[in-house]
Amino acid sequence: MSRPQTSTAILGPGGPFERGLEGYEHRPEQLRMAEAVERVLEHEGVLLVEAGTGTGKTLAYLVPAVLSGRKVIVSTGTRALQDQIVERDLPLLAELTGLGIRAASMKGLSNYVCRRRLAESVAAGGYGDPHLEVVRRWVETAERGDRAELAVVPENAPVWMDVTSSSETRIGQRCEHYEACFVTRMREDAEAAQIVVVNHHLFFADLALRASGGGSVLPEHDAVVFDEAHGIEEVATTFFGLRVSSTQIVSLVRDARRTLASAGLLDRAGRGEADGMLAEVEQRASIFFGALPVERGDAELRIPLDASLFDGPIGRDLIALDTALDALASYARGVAAVGEPVLALARRTDSLRDDLDRVVHGVGNTHVAWCQASRRSVALGASPIDLSELLREHLFYRERGVVLASATLTTDGDFSFIRRRLGLDFPCEELAVSSPFDFGRQAALYLPRDLPDPRDALYRDRAAREIERLVRLTRGGAFVLCTSVKAMRQLAEAGRMAFEWPVLVQGDAPKAALLSRFRRAHDAVLYATASFWEGVDVPGDALRLVVIDRLPFEVPTDPVVAARSRRMRDDGVDPFDVYQVPAAALALKQGFGRLVRTRRDHGIVAVLDRRIVTRGYGRRFVETLPPASRCLSFAEVEAFWREAADGRQPAAAPPEDLR
Ligand code: SF4
Repeated sequence: MSRPQTSTAILGPGGPFERGLEGYEHRPEQLRMAEAVERVLEHEGVLLVEAGTGTGKTLAYLVPAVLSGRKVIVSTGTRALQDQIVERDLPLLAELTGLGIRAASMKGLSNYVCRRRLAESVAAGGYGDPHLEVVRRWVETAERGDRAELAVVPENAPVWMDVTSSSETRIGQRCEHYEACFVTRMREDAEAAQIVVVNHHLFFADLALRASGGGSVLPEHDAVVFDEAHGIEEVATTFFGLRVSSTQIVSLVRDARRTLASAGLLDRAGRGEADGMLAEVEQRASIFFGALPVERGDAELRIPLDASLFDGPIGRDLIALDTALDALASYARGVAAVGEPVLALARRTDSLRDDLDRVVHGVGNTHVAWCQASRRSVALGASPIDLSELLREHLFYRERGVVLASATLTTDGDFSFIRRRLGLDFPCEELAVSSPFDFGRQAALYLPRDLPDPRDALYRDRAAREIERLVRLTRGGAFVLCTSVKAMRQLAEAGRMAFEWPVLVQGDAPKAALLSRFRRAHDAVLYATASFWEGVDVPGDALRLVVIDRLPFEVPTDPVVAARSRRMRDDGVDPFDVYQVPAAALALKQGFGRLVRTRRDHGIVAVLDRRIVTRGYGRRFVETLPPASRCLSFAEVEAFWREAADGRQPAAAPPEDLR
C-alpha cells in the first residue's frame, strides 16, 4: 500500500481513517491542529494549542509526530492517557496506514519491579505479605515488569512499596540483575523507539535531574509534545522543589533492615550491630515529625515553615534526627565492601540528610518552605516561587520543538495566563480550535442565584437540598465535585440519607474501582474532590449531571500560592486578577469538561457558588466555559432537561477511538 505523507492525507477526506473506520468523519478542527503541529516539528519553536473535547486532539499530534521521522517525546498528564496512546491509538494508526511505528512507553521507576528488592524481600520472608508470592511468580515470565500488568494485586497493595524500583534504591550497572532488569530494558526500548510516551511526572523528574547535572532518564530527542499541558506548572513545581517526609524515613529504615539482612549484617530476627542505629533513626524521626506544628487529617493543607521554628526544641529534635541518620550513613559506608546495595543505602541516607538540611536552612528567596500533614505522614518541603526562568532555561530554550496541547489552556479568550505561568515571553504559535459538539443543545449551565454565599453557615444545607432536587431530576448519574474533603464528606452524608440510588464517595475504594462501579450502576451519585476534576472519562448516559460546590480558587493561605501572589504584588500586578481568577476558571473548565464527552451526551452542569453571577469576576468564569445553555432558575433547568429527554435525536457519535 502507498503510504500517505501528510497528516491531512491520513486524517482528512478519503484518507485511511475515513476508508478504514466505520462512522469516521474527518474534522476540520483536527486537521488545523495537525498542520500546526507539523509546522513546529519541521521548523522548531513552541506551539500552544487548545483543542476542545471531541476534536481528536491525540491523533492531531501523533500523526505529525510519526510522519516527522524525528524522535519525539509525548508526555501526558495521566497514566491512563499514556496507556491509551500506546495500547490503542498508535496501533490503530499503524494498522490503518501501514506505517511502521517504533514506539515505547516509559513510566516512573516505581511502576517497575526491581529484581534486587524483590529477591531481598523474598529472602527476608516477605513479612508475611500474601501478595509477595504472587508477584514473585509473575516476574518469572513478565516481559515488562510493569505493575499495571498484574491486576490481581491492587494498585495500593503494600507489597509494591517493597519490590518496585525508585531513584533512591536503583543501583544501575553495578547491580547483579542489571542485564535482566526491567528498568534497563525499558530504557533500551526507549532508546530504539521513534515515539516515546511518558507522563509529566517522569518528564519533569528527568528535567530536574538534568538541570542539577545528575544525569538523565529519558533518551535524547528532537521534540516534545505535552498533552494535558495545563498541568505542567504543578508537576514542574514538585520536581524543581524538595520534599522530605516521615514516610520516606520509615521506608528507608525498612529497606535498610532488608538490605543489611541480605548482606548478612542482621540476622533473620533483625538483630545485629545496626539494629540500635535503625531504631534510633525511627525514634528520632517520630519525635521530630510529631513535634511539627501542623494539623493531621484529610485536609492536607500546607503551612509556611518559618526558619525561626528551629531555634527552639524542634531544632534540637532535628539535630538528634540528623545525628542518627549520620550514624547510619557512616556505618553503611564502613561496611560497604559487602556489596553495592549497602553503599547505595549510605548514599540514600546522605541525600535524605542533605534534602532535610536544604529545606530547613537553605532555600533562599527563590523557594518557599512549607510543612504538610496527612493522616499517615508529615512532610517538609520547598517549592520554587517562579518557574518561568527554570522552564525557559531547561525546557523551552533547550528543546527544538515543543507542543503544549490541552482542552483547557485559554482564559478570557486568550493564552496570556498560561504563557505568563510558564515563562513563554517570546514569540510562540497559538491556535485555539473549538469543540465540534453542540454545547447549546447538549448541555445546560445552571447558575442558581438564590443560594447563600458558600462561606455562609446556611450554605451547606441549602446546597445539599439543591443537589437533591437536581439528582432527582436526572434520576442519578451525577458527579458532585467538591473543593474540599470536608465539604465532600458533609454533602455525601446528606446524599446517603436522601437518595435511593447508590452513593459513592472518593476514598471508599480506589479511583478506578469507583469509576467502574459508577459506569455500571448508571444511576449512581459520586462525591469527589480534586482528583476527579480532570482526566476522568465517562462517555454516554451514565453521567448526566455535574454539580460543582464552589468556584475552585486555590487556597490563598497556601504558602506557594501566597508567595506567588506576594511576588506579583511586589511587581505591581494584582494577583487576584492575573493569577487566582484565571487559574480557578481553568480548573472550573476542567470540571465542566467531565460532562460532554461525545456528540451523544447531554446533561447539566450546576455551579452552586453564587459569586459566579453576583461578582464582577464571575463573568470571566462563564466566558471561559463552553457555550452551554445558561439557566438561572430551576424551572429553566427542568425545561432543558425535559426537552433533552424528549428525544431530540443527536447526530451519530464518532467511533470510540477518536473522541
Ligand atoms: S538495576 Fe536497579 S532497578 Fe534494576 S534490579 Fe538492580 S537495583 Fe533494581
